[in-house]
Amino acid sequence: MVAPRKVLILGSGTAGITLANKLRLLNKPSELDIEVIGKETKHFCKADSTMISLGFKDYKNSVKSVDFLLNNDITFTRETVESVHPYSRVVVTESGKQHSYDVLVIATGAVLHEELIPGFSDESKHFYDLQHSIELYKNLEDFTEGKVVIGVPELPVQCPIANHEFALMLHELLKERGVREKCEIHFVYPEDLLFPDGNISDMFKSKFDESGIICHTGFKLKDIIQKNKEIVSESGEKINYNLLVLAPPHRGQDFLLKSGLCDDKGFVKVDKETLAVEGYEDVYAIGDASNLPIPKTASAIVHSVKYLSRRITAQVKSLNFFGKYDGSVSCSIAVGMNNGITLSFSYTEKPRVPLESRADFNYKSYFSDTYFSTFLRGLM
Ligand SMILES: Cc1cc2nc3c(=O)[nH]c(=O)nc-3n(C[C@H](O)[C@H](O)[C@H](O)COP(=O)(O)OP(=O)(O)OC[C@H]3O[C@@H](n4cnc5c(N)ncnc54)[C@H](O)[C@@H]3O)c2cc1C
Repeated sequence: MVAPRKVLILGSGTAGITLANKLRLLNKPSELDIEVIGKETKHFCKADSTMISLGFKDYKNSVKSVDFLLNNDITFTRETVESVHPYSRVVVTESGKQHSYDVLVIATGAVLHEELIPGFSDESKHFYDLQHSIELYKNLEDFTEGKVVIGVPELPVQCPIANHEFALMLHELLKERGVREKCEIHFVYPEDLLFPDGNISDMFKSKFDESGIICHTGFKLKDIIQKNKEIVSESGEKINYNLLVLAPPHRGQDFLLKSGLCDDKGFVKVDKETLAVEGYEDVYAIGDASNLPIPKTASAIVHSVKYLSRRITAQVKSLNFFGKYDGSVSCSIAVGMNNGITLSFSYTEKPRVPLESRADFNYKSYFSDTYFSTFLRGLM
């Protein structure tokens, strides 16, 4: 392969910004041009969503401008990508402009599709974007009695255990308000386990039991009957609710569905050890846009960016590189008012049942500080 001189990154979210910054740290501007195409001017730290919706955080500290987050000597083009043409190494944006590249990285995340579940829109609340997190906060502000049903109708969704965190923290919030006895919390999950590893699933089940959260695993949501305020599973199980908080179904971007590079949900098919898109050695996908067999999390992105930036840098400098991406993830969540846990695993290593600690709680509570100052800057 001829040493690449231009990297084009699609998407100015967690993965796109972090990779651009890391590549800039590793390569001089005279060695490599870096262009990021993204349609947003602002970036929201989604890991703060649960805390914002529960009123533990002010959203204003969780949003920064993309211009500010990109290091010097990176071109940011604010446009929407319309199509990718890997054979001619060109990307077309909505203005009709053609953007060429030597290496292309697709980092356009996932799209929320509420309409895929009948009755979802206007009925179910969620915390999967900033606007809905703020709306949910308003719904919870004066919630003092009734039944809340929380959960995940289908996978994959971003950070599935954010839902576990939300349920456990809602329990704490209602306890603090002195109204927990007047409220029921139910948790629905489409798999039989609450986490792919059985030991971790058991750990969550015990936490839920201790907190009086009633679990409905293997609950594959079919319908939301708004007039009866009930959800119905494929097997006919019905649960009624006063407040419904469900993760919306996720899909890849429309332009990818048309590209032929993705699976039937629109997630780009990549080699799990090189991150290269199937059939190409100059096109990669990272973050939520990819079909990697790991949870869609920022804590996975930090490792994939580390790997891919080294791989691309070796190509730029015409060096040999035989490293393989190992699928590492290390994700922290709050599980109580002062307790958090961190789950670390990879393609080959199973997660160990973690100890609860104040340190993990603090890390999660102040995650956006690290995220904006260090993580996105490519310093991790
Ligand atoms: C509620 C919630 C809680 C979470 N909690 C955690 C957590 O505690 N820990 C953790 O590690 N992770 C967590 N995550 C997951 C983490 O936030 C995501 O995995 C991560 O942000 C995904 O980054 P990304 O770059 O792949 O996608 P995104 O950050 O979504 O970025 C994609 C970007 O591409 C842009 N784009 C899309 N299509 C186009 C187009 N056609 N043209 C131009 N631009 C386009 C989008 O506008 C967006 O800016 C959470 C996520 C959610 C929703």
